[in-house]
Amino acid sequence: MKKILIIEDEKKIRRFLQLELEHEGYSVHTAEDGAEGFEKFQKDYYDLILLDLMLPKLSGEEVCRKIREVSEIPIIILTAKDQILNKVELLDMGADDYLTKPFEIEELFARMRVALRNKKNFENKNFIVYGSLKLDTKGKKLYKNDDEIYLTKKEYNLFYLLLVNKEIVVSREKILEEVWGFDYEGEEKIVDVYINSLRKKIDEGNEKYIHTARGFGYILKRE
Ligand code: CA
Repeated sequence: MKKILIIEDEKKIRRFLQLELEHEGYSVHTAEDGAEGFEKFQKDYYDLILLDLMLPKLSGEEVCRKIREVSEIPIIILTAKDQILNKVELLDMGADDYLTKPFEIEELFARMRVALRNKKNFENKNFIVYGSLKLDTKGKKLYKNDDEIYLTKKEYNLFYLLLVNKEIVVSREKILEEVWGFDYEGEEKIVDVYINSLRKKIDEGNEKYIHTARGFGYILKRE
């Protein structure tokens, strides 16, 4: 079953699209604003995104650009009648196609089928690249200069958390919560142990990625 993410702030449209798409046999997830949409995109795997342009918090255009930095997932833009988009702007943004509201649902289904067919190999490119590091978020593997670095499941989850928050300090509490879970009752020191083992695997000579923000937590930063 193809999994679709709808990012649309208008409740009526969101609900309508969800029902129609589910009826058509798609698995549907929704987000109410740009920030929530981008967060959902980062945390899960989807086959296609339907993206409204006028969105609160993060505009559709910004969401589209951010997604394109890391993924080739098909994106169909849904625009309001008075927003005239030309093909150049659309391509510049990285979208695959667009529809002007209101549209016939059959027309949307047809465009979705085309977008899904054209991008059937995009799964292989679901990578987050940072410096010489490349994380395959689908295969859950990390590469450095194209050599695989073997990570345990916990190490992977820890690295993923630092990577999606790259250049931002992530507190020890947040790491514990996200990687070990709310109910973890062991020692906080476990985080340092895993950070050290990640460092040994990733940092080399002058090329350091994992840094300590003393008293706060850790940060992934290229130095
Ligand atoms: Ca809107």
